[in-house]
Amino acid sequence: MGAAKERTLSIIKPDATRRNLTGKINSKFEDGGLKIVGQKRLQLTQTQAEKFYEVHKERPFFGDLVKFMVSGPVVVQVLEGPDAVAANRKIMGATNPANADAGTIRKEFAESIEANSVHGSDSLDNAKREINFFFAETEIVA
Ligand code: ADP
Ligand code: MG
Repeated sequence: MGAAKERTLSIIKPDATRRNLTGKINSKFEDGGLKIVGQKRLQLTQTQAEKFYEVHKERPFFGDLVKFMVSGPVVVQVLEGPDAVAANRKIMGATNPANADAGTIRKEFAESIEANSVHGSDSLDNAKREINFFFAETEIVA
């Protein structure tokens, strides 16, 4: 039995859109076996960013994180493939680029632990919640 097909939410963060790295980052997903089945470029509002990162609201970096996420455009996207949640986290690399494996997005492109180029859902439940946060079902086409 093969790995289950899943969907996960990816966000290309403002540090990466500012440096015009959208295509290079998306090549990592596609080369890693994930398919981009939904995608849009957005300017997040303060309210949207606070709501999206609500789970981190007690963390000391919350205010800075929200400020960073509204500092420029993001690309929100739905990735689909076998074990997509875990596969995406592997392609992204560790939160802190200093700890990220060679060849990962964060190792190659992240500027810092905060400006780390990409977001990826951390569980299938959160993936569903995060996909619904940004996408209507009609906007996802496999
Ligand atoms: P991940 O994005 O790897 O799932 P977390 O969910 O723990 O990491 O954190 C969410 C985001 O908050 C990170 O991607 C990063 O942008 C920011 N962040 C996490 N830890 C720190 C920190 N210690 N200082 C500043 N920003 C942080
Ligand atoms: Mg996280």
